[in-house]
Amino acid sequence: MSNSNKFVYLFSEGNASMKNLLGGKGANLAEMTNIGLPVPQGFTVTTEACTKYYEDGKMINEGIIEEIFSNLAKLEEITGKKLGDSANPLLVSVRSGARASMPGMMDTILNLGLNDETVAGLASLTGNERFAYDSYRRFIQMFSDVVMELDKSNFESILEDVKDEVGAQLDTDLTSENLKEVVARYKKFYREEMGNDFPSDPKVQLLESVKAVFRSWDNPRANIYRKLHDIPSSWGTAVNVQQMVFGNMGETSGTGVAFTRNPATGENKIFGEYLMNAQGEDVVAGIRTPKDIETLKDVMPACYDEFMKIANTLETHYKDMQDMEFTIEQGKLFFLQTRNGKRTAPAALKIAVELVEEGLITKEEAILKVDPKQLDQLLHPMFDTDELKASKECAIGLPASPGAACGRVYFTAEEAKNHRALGEKVVLVRAETSPEDIEGMIASEGILTARGGMTSHAAVVARGMGKCCVAGCGALKINEGDKFFTVGDIRINEGDFISLDGETGKVYATEIKTVEPEITGYFGTFMAWADEIRKLKVRTNADNRRDSEQAIRFGAEGIGLCRTEHMFFEEDRIPVVRQMIVAKNEEQRRNALTKLLPMQKSDFVEIYEAMKGLPVTVRLLDPPLHEFLPQHEEDIKSLADQMGLSFEDLKSTVEELHEFNPMMGHRGCRLAVSYPEMAEMQTRAIIEAAIEVNASKGYNIVPEIMIPLAGEVKELKYVKEVVTATADAVISEKGAELKYLVGTMIEIPRAALTADEIATEAEFFSFGTNDLTQMTFGFSRDDAAKFLKDYYDKKIFDFDPFQKLDQTGVGKLVDMAAKLGRTTRPDIKLGICGEHGGDPSSVEFCHEVGLQYVSCSPFRVPIARLAAAQAQVKNPR
Ligand code: PEP
Ligand code: MG
Repeated sequence: MSNSNKFVYLFSEGNASMKNLLGGKGANLAEMTNIGLPVPQGFTVTTEACTKYYEDGKMINEGIIEEIFSNLAKLEEITGKKLGDSANPLLVSVRSGARASMPGMMDTILNLGLNDETVAGLASLTGNERFAYDSYRRFIQMFSDVVMELDKSNFESILEDVKDEVGAQLDTDLTSENLKEVVARYKKFYREEMGNDFPSDPKVQLLESVKAVFRSWDNPRANIYRKLHDIPSSWGTAVNVQQMVFGNMGETSGTGVAFTRNPATGENKIFGEYLMNAQGEDVVAGIRTPKDIETLKDVMPACYDEFMKIANTLETHYKDMQDMEFTIEQGKLFFLQTRNGKRTAPAALKIAVELVEEGLITKEEAILKVDPKQLDQLLHPMFDTDELKASKECAIGLPASPGAACGRVYFTAEEAKNHRALGEKVVLVRAETSPEDIEGMIASEGILTARGGMTSHAAVVARGMGKCCVAGCGALKINEGDKFFTVGDIRINEGDFISLDGETGKVYATEIKTVEPEITGYFGTFMAWADEIRKLKVRTNADNRRDSEQAIRFGAEGIGLCRTEHMFFEEDRIPVVRQMIVAKNEEQRRNALTKLLPMQKSDFVEIYEAMKGLPVTVRLLDPPLHEFLPQHEEDIKSLADQMGLSFEDLKSTVEELHEFNPMMGHRGCRLAVSYPEMAEMQTRAIIEAAIEVNASKGYNIVPEIMIPLAGEVKELKYVKEVVTATADAVISEKGAELKYLVGTMIEIPRAALTADEIATEAEFFSFGTNDLTQMTFGFSRDDAAKFLKDYYDKKIFDFDPFQKLDQTGVGKLVDMAAKLGRTTRPDIKLGICGEHGGDPSSVEFCHEVGLQYVSCSPFRVPIARLAAAQAQVKNPR
């Protein structure tokens, strides 16, 4: 944060590098002003003013108010118009603009400065009374909705009433007299609801609007969006106050949104929409269906040419695909905004690769252009082509965001969310979406709307989230009240299956099977660049053949964590595991373990084969043993029968194993301390399997045996000796040669604090940040979600520390342990295998503290590969 006391900047005073202070929109408006593009002028109230507003208990202080008005005076000088001047009124828009773009999540007010006097001035100045009153009624509606929280539906129904009374079909059929009537009714409604008159003083309008935009930073949908996209609540939003230009001044005026390349496919061709005689919100809100930008060539050729020229300039200037808003006021073109456009993952990859091929950016710059989390969209199933071919669509809408979605239909965000919580796959079907639908959109596999274009809210937000979306499907007749929709003769009820193809916009009234994705084409090229650049290796957490193979396809370079307990739960294993647990003495336990050995060994053979000689870290048994036994009386009874035990006997074993705090109980290496024969069996299986696969496949596997949950070097030493004695015995028994490593997980704060001692016994550390987070915060990883939501609501936490590493606290332990470990074992191998190993910001942290690898679930391997490359570009090591 800067220490400057300046809170307001004219557009001419800023530039693109001032994003943190001016927000993305403000910084880019300044940049466009400075490179001489036609931008309506204005000023930006900084993000720091927003932060200050919250610090001061939701108040704008006098100093900032003065700065706003002194900059307003400068703007009046630049434009030659005055706010509130009935002869020559200045009208402005007031719009939010945070550091990271959050489309549709915060508030906007247009046409500010209108009142009964200035509206008359505007009418005579433009010679267009209809336009003046149309602008006025829009302003009253927006201001009342955004600033005063009078829901806009009230105003919409007043407008509909007047339209009905005068027999108007469209808004544009209303005359200026009709619109005057609308304005009068709006103001009357306002007075009745608010108990005072609609504010006519433009300065009051302005300050109230600035405050409203600040407030909107904290509205529920903005909070959800921020959490989804990792945007800290401390950033705040800037507010842009900009001279209005009017797209609704008649048939030579219009407004639109366009991208320099196709945001859905990445195709290098202008892509966008516009509406003549309309204001900005009309296009994005999806109320009227807009026209393809290419048709502007025929409607206004000169404007189109100028538009294309500027679009190209912007793309070259920013070296990225731009998302632009423009307005044409009586034939004159203005740019209102430009930003790096949101895009789908396939588009992001194609654009990044092509920008390098076009010589506009380097590979390193390309690597930074794709959000690692976005790759997730490409790693999930697509429709099975054969099934797709065999299916006949029932309707076609606009392919607004690609991917395949199949699920049960629900008509409200609430229902979608509730049914998702019940484990159903859902598709949200709406007439049009509004920002309030965001939670429902998150819960859905895909979104289908009846109205709205490619740049409608639904489309933009879905693309940002990587959700499949088909928009503007006009054939859909939705009956939300009775919970069904029809297309032609087909009726789909709530809860019925549909499938959406976001690539083609096709809608199917059936359930269509999906297939696994592949990393080829632009994706393949891009990932190869990431691999060239990164220093951090990426392994996977896998404990069976299927997951190992999937991870290899996604580029994993080994297994960082094979959790052996998962194998123990399999149907043929669990009876033997239970025998081992209920054993009364070592002999009985060894008998059961002898039966388990061949099964366990065959697991490892499969995994080693799948990994084709790449390193594999196998962790010894970790969970508390009660997890393998039933807890309810009836289940205990039937298991006792099966095992030929008495109910009382088994029940007493279950009771003995009961712990008040099992996550801090008899688990991890503590099991091997009590029952070394378990560690012996597992070690034997690991080593025998490696010898066998090395011999049969010619690999040179060096098994890494990992001892979990150590907190004291002596316990580690004890278990390690059991492991090495067994391993050495097996190797000599088999007359084989085999190297192996023994290491530990760092999951307990004490292990991190004494890592120098621990490293004397451990050849590698793997940070188990799930447990390390749990034990550092003292939050149960199984229960914390229940109360952490209060922490998000109260802004105590911005994110879930189980998903994104807490770098300040838990990270400090990781860093400390890495450093301490190297003091006693300089060549110690360091990795992470907690869930954080697949989270981009945590991967960056691992790069910075000098770990050698991260390990994550197979589907996050490509994400980690890209995050690791980005970390190297940002901070080379
Ligand atoms: C960990 O604790 O981070 C870990 C990887 O082990 P588990 O999740 O199996 O406890
Ligand atoms: Mg653990």
